[in-house]
Amino acid sequence: MTVEETKCIFCRRESGRVDWEENGFTGKRCDCGLLYVSPRPEMKEILSWYNSDEANGGARSRIRSEIWGRLNALHRLRILRRYKRQGDLLEIGPGSGYFLDESRRPGFNPFGIELNLRQSSFIKEKLKIQVETSPFRDSSFNGILFDVICHFDVISHFFDPISECKQFHKRLKEGGILFFETGNGGDLSKKWLKFIGRLQYPHHLFLFSSRNIEQLCQETGFKIVRVYRYSILFHLVAMKCFKYFKYIFLKKTGKAEVKKTTRGFRGEVKNDKLVKSPKNVTPVETGVQNQLKSLDSGFRRNDEKRTKRTFYETIKNDSMWKIFLLRIAIRVNLLIRYKIGKWLPKIGPQTVIYVAKKQSVVDVEQNNKNG
Ligand SMILES: [Zn+2]
Repeated sequence: MTVEETKCIFCRRESGRVDWEENGFTGKRCDCGLLYVSPRPEMKEILSWYNSDEANGGARSRIRSEIWGRLNALHRLRILRRYKRQGDLLEIGPGSGYFLDESRRPGFNPFGIELNLRQSSFIKEKLKIQVETSPFRDSSFNGILFDVICHFDVISHFFDPISECKQFHKRLKEGGILFFETGNGGDLSKKWLKFIGRLQYPHHLFLFSSRNIEQLCQETGFKIVRVYRYSILFHLVAMKCFKYFKYIFLKKTGKAEVKKTTRGFRGEVKNDKLVKSPKNVTPVETGVQNQLKSLDSGFRRNDEKRTKRTFYETIKNDSMWKIFLLRIAIRVNLLIRYKIGKWLPKIGPQTVIYVAKKQSVVDVEQNNKNG
């Protein structure tokens, strides 16, 4: 794998400040807040990950996460419909496509760009939604113009966010809406990043500050009309507690099989070259992608060995009341993330929903005149 040094995409300067290290990759921090992976793999290498199943958590698990996907979609659609009530809607990186599916109810006509083949065929065959599997470009969907283009927690994966946004501008109708969600990683100190624990390197190539997003929109012809901020601090704490109690529960109920394979796999990870000495290991030395693949297949192997495979699968084969409980758990999860997160003080990690409107040439000239 070849890697290349990169600069801040906004200031076009190289930063020497390393604020994060994960999986043998380093995150450099620019004065503008942007945290970017440098050096990073080439574009074709990155694209090849999305076509494989190893991408970011595995496609199968996302297909299982239907309840979360649909309920989350309802929250996002409630916001979107304040700005656009219907029309042609394109989602970049729809995963299993539940947002697209839910968007049909209020009258949107959905389209998706999904690079992962397993997920795109799920969207096409099961949900009967038009989906393309190559990166968004002029020829995608025969060049039609959209009323809404949206993406959720996807912007950090873009190889070149500025060109992507310019492309969105080109493919939106006049007055079209760019609707997206991302974290505020660029605003967070090293201390907060440590609290989050994992930034999913090298899949997340950029973490943006609020200033970065403003600049990105301005440079690419969008005006941010509304920002919805949610503190995810309480959500992160709740998740950490949940994981801890689940672990204790598995231990207590004596699921020996689970315990054994988990421990075995943990040992494997512990002895892994990358985990052992991440500071000294550069991606070039290790061929980190192979390492990531082996870690991922380790997870999967571990998963296959389990007698009861996943939380959801256990429940799927079980009674209605367990599904009912799962629904409640996910509702509580979303309540903590968005309803409570909305009112919590905005310190530390947040998830932010942006509503931006396409500016026409006239709008831009008007803005420039007004200073
Ligand atoms: Zn910068």
